[in-house]
Amino acid sequence: MIDCQDVHKWFGDFHVLQGISQSVERGEVLVICGPSGSGKSTFIRCINRLEEFQKGHILLEEKDIHSKDFNINELRAEIGIVFQQFNLYPHLTVLKNITLAPVKVRGRDRKSAVTQAMELLERVGIVEQANKYPAELSGGQQQRVAIARALAMRPKVMLFDEPTSALDPEMINEVLNVMKDLARDGMTMLCVTHEMGFAREVADKVIFMDGGQIVEQGPPNEFFSNPRHERTKAFLKEIL
Ligand code: ATP
Ligand code: MG
Repeated sequence: MIDCQDVHKWFGDFHVLQGISQSVERGEVLVICGPSGSGKSTFIRCINRLEEFQKGHILLEEKDIHSKDFNINELRAEIGIVFQQFNLYPHLTVLKNITLAPVKVRGRDRKSAVTQAMELLERVGIVEQANKYPAELSGGQQQRVAIARALAMRPKVMLFDEPTSALDPEMINEVLNVMKDLARDGMTMLCVTHEMGFAREVADKVIFMDGGQIVEQGPPNEFFSNPRHERTKAFLKEIL
């Protein structure tokens, strides 16, 4: 589904991604962890071209994301992203936040976009908030709107960049539960997160990044119980 081949990126002289190769099959969940500054966000932002990279290739269903088959809006519809900060449009209601892009980018008619948005709000458990503005919602509710908004584009892949790390502890689970449901429904997901319970439960593979490289990877059982590299061990000791 997603195939990253020797991806390199520089910010000026700084070699932030030093040859990332990783593939994710349809329906798989990849969890990415690693210390601050290791390049996790930069890596997943390359996948929907929020960041450009200078060397290597990223393929979505065998097609290069830089090919003419994708314009940037189409690519971002196919590959949804949810950020740490929810990035909702503050001047639009929850419902409008969700229907805007399907109508404008996907050319859907308004009525069916609204029907779909209400179904998605049902799915993330906040259908009663449809007519409120983002500022009237809790952080956990806002993040669930952000997930519903990305899903409204009917993406093939979902990217998550520390979606729970800006939340108060009591709201983390409501967002993780939505993500777990999504994983169980077969969504292909790449998640930067340090929620290791989530990783154990739904990840097919966990990768540990440090210094712009993938230092270690494996299925969650192996990764957590038997990390091989010193840097992974030190990191897990810090966060577990
Ligand atoms: P965190 O856990 O803190 O979110 P991260 O692993 O997501 O860290 P990135 O945000 O990908 O790390 O950043 C990797 C490195 O690239 C950092 O050293 C950061 O300072 C640097 N960097 C990120 N964005 C830019 C930019 N726009 N220009 C220059 N350097 C950048
Ligand atoms: Mg980051």
